[in-house]
Amino acid sequence: MAPNPITVLLIEDNPGDVRLVQIALAESRPAGFEVRTATTLTEGLELLASGRFDAVLLDLSFPGISPQQTVARVAAAAGHDPIVVLTGLDDEQFSREAVKLGAQDYLVKGQFDGRLLARSISYAIERSHSRMELARAHEAALEASRLKSSFLANMSHEIRTPINAVIGMTRMLLDTPLDTEQREFASTAWSSACSLLTIINDILDFSKVSAGKLDLHETEFSPATTLQSIVEMFAPRTRDQKVKLISSISDSMPRLLRGDEGRLRQIMTNLIGNAVKFTDRGQVSIQGSVESDTATFTKLRFVVTDTGPGIAKSDQSRIFDAFYQADASTTRKHGGTGLGLAIAAQLAALMGGKIGVESELGKGSSFWFTVPLQKPSARPVSTTDQPLDTSASPAPNARLITLSVGTPQAIRASARILVAEDHPVNQQVIIKMLSRIGYSADAVANGREAIDALRSKSYDLLLMDCQMPEMDGYEAARTIRRNFSGTAPIPIVGVTAHAFEEDRRKCLNAGMNDYLRKPVMPEELAATIEKWLRNLNATANERSPAIDRASLDRLKDCDASGSDFLPRLIEVFIADTDNRLQAIREELSRGNSAGVAGAAHAIKGASGHFGAKRLMELCRVIEQRAHAGDIGALAPEIDRLANEIGCVRDALAPYRQNAAVDRLHTAPRPTNI
Ligand code: ADP
Repeated sequence: MAPNPITVLLIEDNPGDVRLVQIALAESRPAGFEVRTATTLTEGLELLASGRFDAVLLDLSFPGISPQQTVARVAAAAGHDPIVVLTGLDDEQFSREAVKLGAQDYLVKGQFDGRLLARSISYAIERSHSRMELARAHEAALEASRLKSSFLANMSHEIRTPINAVIGMTRMLLDTPLDTEQREFASTAWSSACSLLTIINDILDFSKVSAGKLDLHETEFSPATTLQSIVEMFAPRTRDQKVKLISSISDSMPRLLRGDEGRLRQIMTNLIGNAVKFTDRGQVSIQGSVESDTATFTKLRFVVTDTGPGIAKSDQSRIFDAFYQADASTTRKHGGTGLGLAIAAQLAALMGGKIGVESELGKGSSFWFTVPLQKPSARPVSTTDQPLDTSASPAPNARLITLSVGTPQAIRASARILVAEDHPVNQQVIIKMLSRIGYSADAVANGREAIDALRSKSYDLLLMDCQMPEMDGYEAARTIRRNFSGTAPIPIVGVTAHAFEEDRRKCLNAGMNDYLRKPVMPEELAATIEKWLRNLNATANERSPAIDRASLDRLKDCDASGSDFLPRLIEVFIADTDNRLQAIREELSRGNSAGVAGAAHAIKGASGHFGAKRLMELCRVIEQRAHAGDIGALAPEIDRLANEIGCVRDALAPYRQNAAVDRLHTAPRPTNI
C-alpha cells in the first residue's frame, strides 16, 4: 500500500516560485507530497487555523510585514507543524534568527533541488515529532512528580496519625509508676517512635527541596531569640550528657530581620543537634555574628563548634551529600538518616547562604553557615520580638493574661486553652501533654463546639485539629475570624497530620496564626503556645496609639486663623474613610482586587495626616495583598480595618471638641460697657 502523501502548505505570493516548488516536490519519490498553496499571508494563516498540515513552506517577503514578524506569526499559528523557510534572502544571521523564531530549516531559493527540499521537509517533520515526544515525556515526568508529592503527603499523613498515638501514649505511660524493666521497655518504644518521626520528616523535607517544592515563608523575627530558644531546647540533654552548652550573639546583630525563621531554625537545630549527639564530653558552643551588611540585607554567620570525635578530611566534603554518614560505628551508636546535613545545605542555598565544616579527627568539629536576611521594612514595627502576623486577625473574646518577665510559669498558670480535637486518643494525649507543661485546658470535639465554647467563655488560645467532623478546623477558624470581633486577638494554632507547605498556607489562609505538625511534641507545643501568648499580650499592651498627637498638633498649627479647619478636616476624613471602607467591602465581594487596593491606598494616605499608624499599617497590608491578587482570605483584615477606623474615630473625637474649646478660649473677650 502506498504511504499517505505528506500534506504541505506553501505560503508564497510569487506564482513562478509556486510553480518551481510544485515541480521540485512532484519529482521527489517515494514520499509523495500533496501541496496546498496560499498566495497571501492572510490566506496562509486562515488555512493554518482551519486545519493541520504535516509541514509549512514559507516565503518571507510579504507586503507590509517584516520577515521576522512573518516567521513569528506563522510559527504561532502552526503550533507543532514544522516550518521550512524558502527565501531569496541569503543571510546567515537572519537564518539563525528565523530558526530561533520557530522555523525548523532555512533554504535559499535557487540553492536547492527537489531532493534537498523533500529531505529538508522530512527531517523537519522528524524533528518536530521528536520535540513533541520530548514535550510529552516532560509532561509525564511533571505528572509523576505531582503524583509523588501527593503520595508523600498522603503517606506522611497516614504514618503520622498512628505515630502520634504511639508517642503520646508511651509518654503518658512513662508518667505512671513502672518498674525498672517496664520503664526501659516504654522508653525504648518512645525513643524509637521519635526516631521514626525524625526519619519521616527528613525524607519528606529532602524530597520537597529536591522537587523544588519547598517555598520560603518570610516574616520579621529576632534571630537571637530563635537561637536562644533552640539552645534552651537542647539544654536538658547536654546537662544529662555532662556537656557544657554555651551560646553567644554579637552586639551588632540586628534585633529584627526578615526571612524564613522556621527554615533557619531547622538548620541551627540540625547543626546543634549533631554537635550534641556526637559529643560525649567537653562543650558545644554556638556563635552568631554579622558577616556583612548592606543597605537592605544583613548577612549572618552562625558557627557551631564541638569537642566531639571530629570528621576525617576525606569525609568532610561528602557529609553534605544525601544519605552519607562519615563513621559507621559512631553513626550506628547515634542513629540518623544521613539526610540532616544534606537538607541543611539545601536550605542554606535556598536562602542564599552557604554552609561548611572545619574539623580534625579526634579534635572536634566546627560547622558554620551564613544566611542573608532582609532588613525590616521601613514601616513601624512592633516592639515585640515576635512578628505581628498580619495574616491573623483580631479575634474573639480573648482575655489578657499577666506576664512576668522571668519566658513561662506565669503564662502557664494563668492561661486558658481550648482544644478542639475529635479523636478521643489524640484529645487525651494533648490534654495530658498540656497539663504536663503546666496549662489547664478544656476540650471540644469539633469546630462548631469550639465556636460555642468561645461564645460562652474566654480563652487565651485555641489549639485546633484541622480535620474534624461536622465543622473542620479551617471552617471554624474562618467563622471565628468573621464573626468575632474584639480588641485582643485569640491566637489559633492549627494541628494537622499533613506536613507540606500548602498545609501551612491553608491554615494561615483560614485565619489561623500558626500550625503544629502531628505528632505534637511537648517542646514544640510549649514553645508555640508561649510564643503566641506573649505575642497576644504584647500586641495588646504595646500597640501604638490610634493617632499621634504630634501630627494633630501640626495640623492645628497649619491654621493660625483659629477657624474650624481641624474639625472640618476630621469630618471629611471620617466621612471619606467610611465611604472607602464600604467601597472595599463591595469590591471584595466583586472580586476586584484593583478596587480593593485603590481604596486601601486612599485611606492609608489620608490617615497619615493624623498619624494613625496602625490604620496605615493595616491599609498597607490590605493594599499589598490586593496587589498580589490575594483577596480570597481578606475578610478578617477588613474586619480589623473597620475596627481600627472606629478606634481612630474615637481617638479623634476630643480633638473635634478641643478645637471648638480652643476657639472659645481664643475668641476676643466681650467688653463690659
Ligand atoms: P545523621 O546525623 O542523621 O547521620 P547528617 O547529615 O546530619 O546525618 O550527618 C551526616 C554525618 O556527618 C553523620 O552521620 C556523622 O557521621 C557526620 N557528622 C555530622 N555532624 C557531626 C559532628 N558534629 N561531629 C562528628 N560527625 C558529624
